[in-house]
Amino acid sequence: TQNLLEVRNLTAGFETENGFVKATDRVSLSIAQGQTLCIVGESGSGKSVTSLAIMRLIDYAGGFIESGEVLFKGDNLAGKKQQDMMRIRGSKMAMIFQDPMSALNPVFKVGEQIAESLRTHKKLGEKEAWAKAVDMLRVVGIPSPEIRAHQYPHEMSGGMCQRVVIAMALACEPELIIADEPTTALDVTVQAQILDLLAKLKRELKTSILLITHDMGVAAEIADRIAVMYAGAIVEEGTVDQVFQNPSHPYTVGLLRSIPGLDGERGAELYTIKGSIPSINDLPTGCRFNPRCPYVMDRCLREEPPLIPGKNGQRAACWLEELPKEGA
Ligand code: SF4
Ligand code: MG
Repeated sequence: TQNLLEVRNLTAGFETENGFVKATDRVSLSIAQGQTLCIVGESGSGKSVTSLAIMRLIDYAGGFIESGEVLFKGDNLAGKKQQDMMRIRGSKMAMIFQDPMSALNPVFKVGEQIAESLRTHKKLGEKEAWAKAVDMLRVVGIPSPEIRAHQYPHEMSGGMCQRVVIAMALACEPELIIADEPTTALDVTVQAQILDLLAKLKRELKTSILLITHDMGVAAEIADRIAVMYAGAIVEEGTVDQVFQNPSHPYTVGLLRSIPGLDGERGAELYTIKGSIPSINDLPTGCRFNPRCPYVMDRCLREEPPLIPGKNGQRAACWLEELPKEGA
């Protein structure tokens, strides 16, 4: 079966005084119908640019896709006109950002904002659109939706606003939702509620989700598959269990060890990976992780590892995957 989204060798970035500056480096990923893929990584790893490039919102941020394909139901979005992208973004794909306030218009009632999108993309009439908007507010767990629909964003809490944004994203029944750090700006209790909501929507509506997060706990809770990004590239990809229970790439191992309590262990000393992420435009020769890797070998300094199907079932961009399995 065909994947809903298939990204192939996506290199995207920004034109600067010093020429083209890459933010993603030949990123490939795929999302099946009804699945949730989480891209995890530290800030600056290229996660957000990947999502902006998929949506072609990167064009508005002064960037562009340099090479590669973004196949949405087999249709390549990389070369589309913005006019066509606007139609696709409104109806087939929707995006949820970190800050709900920036996604909402302060001068319109929240119900009106959802209704407007339904009139534009679904060609609903006034009354029908309003009724559906109220219904969507109910779906995302907003109490007294008939009353709330008449409120303005500033009359609502951050968590309620993010629910409105999710309602707006869902209103036109998109097949893919891209959420970039959707809970990061919210306090911990509200974060958990929004995650529960996303998990519920995924179960009930079978929407595919691409979730971008730096938070491994968030990823563990909602993802089917995980892609770990480092310095613009995906360095490990597999199911949640494969990647979190049995990480293959030394970077993933370090990342997981630096998170408190993910494995239920408390009080364990936190690990930090030595060094920092290199600039994607000034990578070391060979493996991009080699300056920081505790297992670096000769080959790592010369040859760049592709994503190799490895011992634990997932794929990892690491030459260790080609060594014979321990004890075998
Ligand atoms: Fe470390 Fe080598 Fe694997 Fe890179 S390829 S992560 S340097 S062992
Ligand atoms: Mg980001």
